[in-house]
Amino acid sequence: MSDCIFCKIAKGEIPAEKLYDDGEIFCIRDINPMAPTHLLIIPYKHIPTLMDMASEDLPIVSKVYGVAQKMAREAGVDKDGFRVLHNVKEWGGQMVFHIHFHLLGGVKFGKDQV
Ligand code: 5GP
Ligand code: ZN
Repeated sequence: MSDCIFCKIAKGEIPAEKLYDDGEIFCIRDINPMAPTHLLIIPYKHIPTLMDMASEDLPIVSKVYGVAQKMAREAGVDKDGFRVLHNVKEWGGQMVFHIHFHLLGGVKFGKDQV
């Protein structure tokens, strides 16, 4: 989609270091990190929200979790633990309407933190 920031990053129109890229999914650092490790795992396909995923798109989600395992190991947060977050629509806190998953780590999260 032409006015989508993550599509622009996917195409290289906005520069961002791709820490992982398999042609279907890529991973970048969040521009406004909320934790010492804050990565975004993003499918190339422009799907606005979880609720727009067709059943044939759902295997992407399991691939995303495979990338999360790999990136957590590379970031060194796999032993202590980390969070994978996926915000859905406005009330879920979604700001960029191209599905993506946050990998947050390097700090111990409390139960009251989201
Ligand atoms: P959401 O609230 O939609 O789940 O998360 C969107 C995330 O994208 C935010 O954490 C925000 O900091 C990040 N973000 C927005 N624009 C850019 C950008 O141009 N580059 C990068 N690397 N991250 C971005
Ligand atoms: Zn997009």
